[in-house]
Amino acid sequence: MSETTPEKHVFQAEIQQLLDLVVHSLYTDKEIFLRELVSNASDAMEKLRHIEATEKNVHQPDLALEIHISTDEAANTLTIADSGIGMSHDELVKNLGTIAHSGTKAFLKSVKEGNAVPGNMIGQFGVGFYSAFMVADKVEVHSRSWHADSPELVWTSDGKSGYEITETTGLDRGSKLVLHLKDDCKEYATEPRVKHLIETYSNFVGFPILLNGKRVNEVEALWLKNKSEISDEQYKAFYQFACKAWDDPLYRLHFSADAPLAINALVFAPSENPERMGFGKAEPAVALYCRKVLIDPSPEGLLPDWMRFMKGVVDSADIPLNISRETMQDSALIRKLGGVISKRVIRMFEKEAEADPEKYRGFYRKFDRFLKEGVATDHGNREALAKLLRFESSMTDPGAVCGFADYVSRMKDGQDTIYYLNGASRDHIESSPYLEAFNSRGLEVIYFTDAVDEYVVESLGSFEGRKLVSIRNADVELEDRENEGEALSEEQTKALCDFLKQELGDRVVTVAAGKRLVDSPVLALLPADSMSPQMRQMMKAIDENFKDEVKVEFEINPRHPLVKQLAAARDANPDLAKLVSHQLLDNALISAGLLEDARDTIRRMNELMQKALS
Ligand code: ADP
Repeated sequence: MSETTPEKHVFQAEIQQLLDLVVHSLYTDKEIFLRELVSNASDAMEKLRHIEATEKNVHQPDLALEIHISTDEAANTLTIADSGIGMSHDELVKNLGTIAHSGTKAFLKSVKEGNAVPGNMIGQFGVGFYSAFMVADKVEVHSRSWHADSPELVWTSDGKSGYEITETTGLDRGSKLVLHLKDDCKEYATEPRVKHLIETYSNFVGFPILLNGKRVNEVEALWLKNKSEISDEQYKAFYQFACKAWDDPLYRLHFSADAPLAINALVFAPSENPERMGFGKAEPAVALYCRKVLIDPSPEGLLPDWMRFMKGVVDSADIPLNISRETMQDSALIRKLGGVISKRVIRMFEKEAEADPEKYRGFYRKFDRFLKEGVATDHGNREALAKLLRFESSMTDPGAVCGFADYVSRMKDGQDTIYYLNGASRDHIESSPYLEAFNSRGLEVIYFTDAVDEYVVESLGSFEGRKLVSIRNADVELEDRENEGEALSEEQTKALCDFLKQELGDRVVTVAAGKRLVDSPVLALLPADSMSPQMRQMMKAIDENFKDEVKVEFEINPRHPLVKQLAAARDANPDLAKLVSHQLLDNALISAGLLEDARDTIRRMNELMQKALS
């Protein structure tokens, strides 16, 4: 390769699609290209600072870490230069000519599926560099890697089909981007316009930015400053720049601590949940710093996985600079650090929920799955996270929600159990016969209506020492209550139960007079430890051969006219009594969502109707 024979390359197919998309569909927020390029320059210098801490042979070690931006109206160009790590030949090819990020593929897929993507969101997907082609019809990247004997190179492209790389001379370490602006983008070659953009988008870059030789930004590690000196606007600007976010921060937590670790942390909860918008699983986005030096922008294992929606910065002077991604995963120090932060974050949510329940409700609607995931997977924080859950119950108005703490405060004297029922919706749950007994005794029942709830309560098990019990299960002990109405005598009841047990045989585990029933004649209860109807359906969906005989505990209501009539029919009309017995059990199974095959039910119904009509 020599200066006279440029080495030609074609873009990978995905890059061509991406460029097409960036140039033709995301034109609304063109100006964000500058933020993306400044952010790349800043990243390259963060990386250099980190390398300097561990490597000796860095090229031009005394070069100031600054971003130099210059405008040239006559030539219609904008130049952005940094003294960061630069790129070698292979890095130019790999970083600027192929898609390395899974995020980029996700981005393309998402756009192809027709999702609307705000232009200022493209930085999320590692396609920031290509935004240069929104405003330029030719881009040169002059680059000199930090490695001692790297060549000096120029990468040039019109952003259409390919690019070429030539050798050059006279470069300092780092990268210099020269944007040859399109005719309708001349404004980006003027100093006031560019100055305004830097002030808007890049004020919190951690390095000096000089525009045509004059300093523009304030350099400060916001997280090290005192809370009282920072305005909401500054926080927001920091969130959007440093955390590469495109929405507004909903909540923030800014704190410092000296013990057990030296920590300065500034973390945000976003207002939008990209996972819900179809962008796949988020990467950890709370960056780890040590005394302002970036150690890892996306540290796995610092915070629990469920906190991946949080964004921000954690700076700890106690973390060794040269900690590697691998050792980080099993470092006790990192675990301790993550432990302190996750506890603070949870406490922050708790306080915010108390201070403004409506706002918290809005947050919960979008982010509840993360909190639930936390309850199921983050043992250390399980109890604390449980306080953040919200749900409807038999004592909330439809649409209103409460938490476990509210439930506990309403528990009746002597009640030591938290009752709940899973179902598809409030209506569904309220029409089930299980609730009767609890409503009539004034016992509150939580309604869990999200598909994952069952799994979540099962992992939780209890709340502040009070067991969580599904009222669908048979081992719920309820105290006796004087029900109204004439009942069968004890003797008659026992005789009927025996008859039913004999008649229903293997279909039931036991038959007994229940304390739970008020208006319904019968009820099917699942023995403790058996699978719930929802779980059963899931198993069936996963495994078509899944077979698990449902055997229920069958309860009868000795006060119900139908049951009394059945008791009488046992002697007077045994054939009819048999039919009715099976039909009653089927009805109970249908109510419980447990009837698997309705063919017998229908046959029997027809027979019963015939008898009734004849
Ligand atoms: P992202 O910055 O999200 O990774 P980009 O498309 O903006 O995605 O950049 C692709 C890659 O090119 C970066 O990951 C980085 O490795 C490299 N790169 C971009 N700009 C620079 C720069 N100024 N100095 C060094 N490397 C850079």
